Amino acid sequence: DSPLADVDPEIAQVLEQELGRQRGTLEMIASENFVPRAVLEAQGSVLTNKYAEGYPGRRYYGGCEFVDVAESLAISRAKSLFGAAYANVQPHSGATANAAVLAAIAQPGDRILGLELAHGGHLTHGMRLNFSGKLYEAHAYGVDPQSYLIDMDAVREKAREVKPHVLIAGWSAYSRQLDFAAYREIADEVGAKLWVDMAHISGLVAAKLHPSPVPYADVVSSTVHKTLGGPRAGFIMTNDLELQKKINSNVFPGQQGGPLMHVIAAKATAFKLAAEPEFIDRQARTIRGAQILAERLTAPDAVAAGIDVLTGGTDVHLVLVDLRNAPIHGQEAEDILHEVGITVNRNAVPFDPRPPMTPSGLRIGTPALATRGFGDVEFTEVADIIAEALKPAPDVAALRARVLKLTDGYPLYPGLESPGSW
Ligand code: PLP
Repeated sequence: DSPLADVDPEIAQVLEQELGRQRGTLEMIASENFVPRAVLEAQGSVLTNKYAEGYPGRRYYGGCEFVDVAESLAISRAKSLFGAAYANVQPHSGATANAAVLAAIAQPGDRILGLELAHGGHLTHGMRLNFSGKLYEAHAYGVDPQSYLIDMDAVREKAREVKPHVLIAGWSAYSRQLDFAAYREIADEVGAKLWVDMAHISGLVAAKLHPSPVPYADVVSSTVHKTLGGPRAGFIMTNDLELQKKINSNVFPGQQGGPLMHVIAAKATAFKLAAEPEFIDRQARTIRGAQILAERLTAPDAVAAGIDVLTGGTDVHLVLVDLRNAPIHGQEAEDILHEVGITVNRNAVPFDPRPPMTPSGLRIGTPALATRGFGDVEFTEVADIIAEALKPAPDVAALRARVLKLTDGYPLYPGLESPGSW
């Protein structure tokens, strides 16, 4: 019963160092967020000890009376948050949720059609080395080469040509809203099931700041840990009872054994918090922050330095920086921002002329900083720091000092003395 620091000082040190890193830098990876302490507490709990194969009230193990309450709460809160008839909250991750979705609505060898990986799609939407590209016959639609937008006429044309069994809407790097009604029409026209993977935008959808796919899609999957700000995990929703039965059997026993009950309890807490006004305000600051970033990175001095933003702006929680005209590539940009204390990831831009390891883009997201409390003033300062850092010969020490002023002004987990002390 000794504390971690005594049992395993090396791992305790990793936790300390990681907490220090998160506190002392600006986290701008678009898929990341900071969970509330209540979520840390639920997740780091005795529920990790419990086996609970099956579903609430229908388990293959005894002693599930309390974890049943946690899972039932997570299900009912997910349904009410998104207005869905059914929810499965057991997927360990977004990728396993997506594997279960495809298993429920397609047979191996069936055609699937999703957004091209290099244009912002996700691995699980048909990438060659992923299960989705190996098990299914994967096809892709791309963004328009001029506007960088998903052109629904082009999606329709591709769908008519491919005749997919599953049409996939969803992305990992795209900065505009999706037209779910148009996807529905196309799916109906070609006889496809419509699956929406809203992993990136589920927090915005919960706050009603992005249209919801739930009324349009046959199945919606999501992660819990991106804009939604909960534990690292996935979930699936549908309005169709027959589909729900297939989804349930394809999560367990199809993809998984025992559900992670500590994570499911943490999901329940995250769904509860996502229905509160503070959460809606946070999502609004998230989008506003990304828009401020886009404005500053398309200002005349930035453009003069070769910096630009794909689609000219954003409607969501991220900005796709276009460095095709800049002397530095995405890897150099990621490194220089790392030096000033801002964490982002490099990203290919569609039709990227540079190679994948040194691509021409950066993906910069605002969810974690909005969670930290940032508003217009702070995001303007962040945007100016980034713009300065990306221009030639930046004063790294001065920019690092400006970053530290921001991180000091918005302490992360202020009462948390050691990483395991909640
Ligand atoms: N779907 C989309 C659209 C994503 O962007 C991601 C994460 O990057 C996933 C699914 C996979 O989630 P996970 O990393 O939890 O497997």
